Amino acid sequence: MTIPTGEILIDLEALRHNIDVLTAQVAPSQVMVVVKNDAYGHGLIDVTRAAVDSGVSWIGALDLPTALSLRDAGVSSPTRIFAWLLDPEEDLAPAIAASVDLGISTVAQLNTIAASQAANPARVHLKIDTGLHRNGATPEDWPGLVARARDLEDQGVVEIVAVWTHIAEADDHEDSLSIARFEDAVAIARDLGVRAPLRHLAASAAGFARSDARFDLVRFGAFVYGLPPGDGPSAESMGLRQVMTLRAPISLIEALPDGRRRASIDLGFADGLSTSAPGRIAVAIDGRRHPLVGPLEVDRAWIALDDDSDVAVGDTVTVWGDGSAGEQTLQEWGNATDTMSEELVVRLSPRIPRRLV
Ligand SMILES: *Cc1c(COP(=O)(O)O)cnc(C)c1O
Repeated sequence: MTIPTGEILIDLEALRHNIDVLTAQVAPSQVMVVVKNDAYGHGLIDVTRAAVDSGVSWIGALDLPTALSLRDAGVSSPTRIFAWLLDPEEDLAPAIAASVDLGISTVAQLNTIAASQAANPARVHLKIDTGLHRNGATPEDWPGLVARARDLEDQGVVEIVAVWTHIAEADDHEDSLSIARFEDAVAIARDLGVRAPLRHLAASAAGFARSDARFDLVRFGAFVYGLPPGDGPSAESMGLRQVMTLRAPISLIEALPDGRRRASIDLGFADGLSTSAPGRIAVAIDGRRHPLVGPLEVDRAWIALDDDSDVAVGDTVTVWGDGSAGEQTLQEWGNATDTMSEELVVRLSPRIPRRLV
């Protein structure tokens, strides 16, 4: 089969499989599927629909335009869509009307909600900073934030759905400190009259590994797509499958003056491939690995061929995938190029066509 200059294959069965594995791993805690950055380059709408079909009732959208685009695409209540990166200038009224769950860190944000005069209460998740310093109320500001939210709850302006935080997940000891600070903040919120809030703290790594990090809900991004961090176990060893395959047909085979041969694919750094890949990465052709050789061009990559390589123009080159066709996984790509696998997928150019399989 001839394919265009390159294509991204999204294996929805692998995605559903991963969601099932993660759901079983953290039960009875619930799973939120995080779909920021166009679902880590996998396609916002397709991934969200597959997650909802798999029984997921929480979608993590990051920002309001993403959350509202999901509502517009028909992802309706009771599926909860959570957005936590709010622009201070942003009009919150459309999000409140669309019943988007809002991550709230400041009294100023609560006042913006109050000023928006919405017809229905805003669903808010109050965020405490437990050490990452990426938004969240400080422990000093926390009682004031909770008290103002309780006030507005009594006026019917907000509904306090959750208390949450985000942690580093790079160091077990640091994470344990964050968990303890989180539990303190939950206790304070309860003392101030917040009834049975959902509690959520962990993303993929801590949520998968630590039962004490799961609370009521785990926000899974990378693991949904089968993308474990480079320093951790492989996707396969966790029972997860990499969802994305990137492949391209050989566009040209060339003999070099010294008698060696090389083949090209029409994917280069403008498509999002990393200039550090040549010399460090091998791609698969017909189940065999062949090294990428440099330099990477704007719209082309070169592959060294062995003397006995029996390949032809049009043959499929698997750049990365789950490893089943002999190719390297994104975790291996990340390790070889000193990049996070998530960065590799979100950097891919939107001009590469994406196909569901
Ligand atoms: C991105 C993000 C996640 C998901 O993180 P992964 O490590 O990809 O699972 C969870 N929570 C928040 C707040 C995030 O920004």
